[in-house]
Amino acid sequence: MTARDTIAAIATPAGRGGIGIVRLSGPAAPDIARRLTGIQPRPRHAHYVRFRDADGATLDSGLLLYFPAPHSFTGEDVVELQGHGNPVLLDLLLQRLHALGARPARPGEFSERAFLEGRLDLAQAEAVADLIAAGSAAAARAAQRSLEGEFSQRVGRLLQALVEARLHVEAAIDFPEEEIDFLADGQIAARIGAVIDAHAQLLEAAERGQRLRDGLVVAIVGRPNAGKSSLLNALAGSERAIVTDIAGTTRDVLREDVRVGGATLTLVDTAGLRETDDTVEAEGVRRARAELARADHVVVVVDARHPEDLAALREECPAGVPLTVLLNKIDLPGARAPAAAGSRAADAGAAGATVLRVSLRTGENIDALRAHLAGLAGAADSVENTFSARARHVDALRRTGGHLHLALARLDIDRAGELAAEELRLAQQALSEITGAYSPDDLLGAIFSSFCIGK
Ligand code: GDP
Ligand code: ZN
Repeated sequence: MTARDTIAAIATPAGRGGIGIVRLSGPAAPDIARRLTGIQPRPRHAHYVRFRDADGATLDSGLLLYFPAPHSFTGEDVVELQGHGNPVLLDLLLQRLHALGARPARPGEFSERAFLEGRLDLAQAEAVADLIAAGSAAAARAAQRSLEGEFSQRVGRLLQALVEARLHVEAAIDFPEEEIDFLADGQIAARIGAVIDAHAQLLEAAERGQRLRDGLVVAIVGRPNAGKSSLLNALAGSERAIVTDIAGTTRDVLREDVRVGGATLTLVDTAGLRETDDTVEAEGVRRARAELARADHVVVVVDARHPEDLAALREECPAGVPLTVLLNKIDLPGARAPAAAGSRAADAGAAGATVLRVSLRTGENIDALRAHLAGLAGAADSVENTFSARARHVDALRRTGGHLHLALARLDIDRAGELAAEELRLAQQALSEITGAYSPDDLLGAIFSSFCIGK
């Protein structure tokens, strides 16, 4: 490893608190600590010391901890100074460390060093940031599992199977006289098929992990006055969305993050999908469509007195996005279930969707609604097998899958070994981006610079 400079940063959040921590990492860390405190730090020992200014005056007093390389977070010599949690004091301490030769750390630079020293792979380094940012207990547990290497190990196993398949194809190419036989014999295709199956499982798990991390995006659609804003209010527990009796009041797309049963949902109340000549409304309709296309789930709110509205609304929903139908206003006379309504159109609209009958005004059946939404976000079940993942990971896995399918097609349909091998190489490259075994420098820069300073 090349010699590096020594970095320093405040590791605790800005603001006042009982304790504030400044962290140093790099070869000069123990020497800087000695000049700051006058004592020679012992490895993994808590020293109670005075942090001294250049003229010997005490800046603060507190604990000094020294973790020699390589058994530290970064893999370098690390010193932790625990003083009082006052930003003014911590800043003075930091300035003193700079005077003694440490350089201010860039955001995420401690994690970056841990990655470069091989202490963490990229997915694990990201899990550190995700653990700090986790907005729910389930998301925190998932990030913890990623940090412990759950995700990385599964990527590693898939990578190994992929590399083995690739070696078989490459070997077949290297013996041209036997190539056709090799490729025609179904063994190699079966091997790639197995990799594709394993990949599909990992992708599904990663998508679940991303939903846990980023929250499930739920678009709310329905005719004006069906109760879309009321749904948002009921779940958010606030009056942020304006609820009125005038059709078309919700002119803009409203987003609200709500916590349901330990999971985070981003609810998007759309302006309604009806065609209109009003330019403001028209813009709302355009944006509503865009939100719908992006959603993980759609909740269609229907006035239970008009279940026949459902079929037309359903047509507006993008294909393939799972649907929940809320039959709202069951407190009102005339409210009917779609079946009771005897309407073919309503039955067709509800097919394949979860149907819940609620009153957003009286709160009837809202608990069932909350439980249903929490289940969608993955909070209720399967937390045991969930790790946190980011959009970046899911994207890399999707590209990996694309190349795997192409590889199989080249082999099975075209009998083109060279082209299949190339697709497998590209699949391997895309998969390797997740743990950072293959990562363009600008990707690394983008990832670590989004971390907070001191991490
Ligand atoms: P949106 O246009 O779809 O956003 O509908 P709103 O949430 O603004 O609701 C329209 C009207 O229906 C408001 O006056 C609400 O108070 C009323 N409303 C919403 N849900 C219910 C319900 O379950 N029962 C009754 N009786 N009224 C409701
Ligand atoms: Zn509304």
